[in-house]
Amino acid sequence: MIIGIDVGNTNMTGALASDDGKHVATLRRKSDRAGGAKAGVELISEIIAALQKQAGGEGGSVRRIGVGFGGPVDFERGVALLSHQNPGWENTPLRDQLQQRFGIPIAIDNDANAGTLGEWRFGAGRGVNDLLYVNIGTGIGGGVIANGALVRGAQNLAGEIGHIIVRRDGPVCTCGKHGCLEGCASGSAIGRRASEALGRKVDGKEVDALALQGDTTARRVLDGVIEDLAHGLGIAIGLVNPALIIIGGGLSQAPEQLYLAPLRRAVPRFCLAEAAAHIRIEPAQLRYDAGVMGAVALAMS
Ligand SMILES: [Zn+2]
Repeated sequence: MIIGIDVGNTNMTGALASDDGKHVATLRRKSDRAGGAKAGVELISEIIAALQKQAGGEGGSVRRIGVGFGGPVDFERGVALLSHQNPGWENTPLRDQLQQRFGIPIAIDNDANAGTLGEWRFGAGRGVNDLLYVNIGTGIGGGVIANGALVRGAQNLAGEIGHIIVRRDGPVCTCGKHGCLEGCASGSAIGRRASEALGRKVDGKEVDALALQGDTTARRVLDGVIEDLAHGLGIAIGLVNPALIIIGGGLSQAPEQLYLAPLRRAVPRFCLAEAAAHIRIEPAQLRYDAGVMGAVALAMS
């Protein structure tokens, strides 16, 4: 059997799956956000041990473990480089630490790559050889499948569409640059842009509700966000020519007329007509279990 672990900012989630990836059980625990890697590794180990026990109860044994981590990862060395949200994870040799404890082959990657593999194997991307996965939540992450394989790049940073610059005079991003897609079109950015436009504090959900009610200021904010998203996607399309773009995260759950439909109309203005003519833009299919099923897919790949 396989265990997938999603190391998120607020939760640690583990899933037990059969060898061909069928979901068997999920276990979720709150992270000790201030406890850093030490507390994190303990919690991951507890989850693995509990799922191992469950596998044993069903007459199986766990042969592989995949870990999706919420921050940059040195894939070759199996090292978590840092967590942007929680302190104390710098240069943690997570793969070796877990491998020593459990004696099972372990793969670790960032959660965006794991999410891409998950959607490709189990979700909206099944059977598609060239796709782009974009997760739009608090931040923007992504991954690329090209010619039927995940593209990692030299530093495992391929697919980082959130830090493609779409407006050189745009707001400062978490990475320190101006005008990154993440700073212009993430869930947090949508809340910030709308708060500025409306003159009061609103979050993404409220903006969606206002736009649905026909509020012209909210709609104008979303138009600007979609323009930036389409710009970022257009750059990515020019590089990888995907057949499918999968949009995940909170934004993909919103009513289609708010984001996906206008995005489909806007994208052709930012890329070659021949590429746009054949591209599909679809919502992700794995929802709350996207992270863990991505980790399962990582263990299988
Ligand atoms: Zn950035």
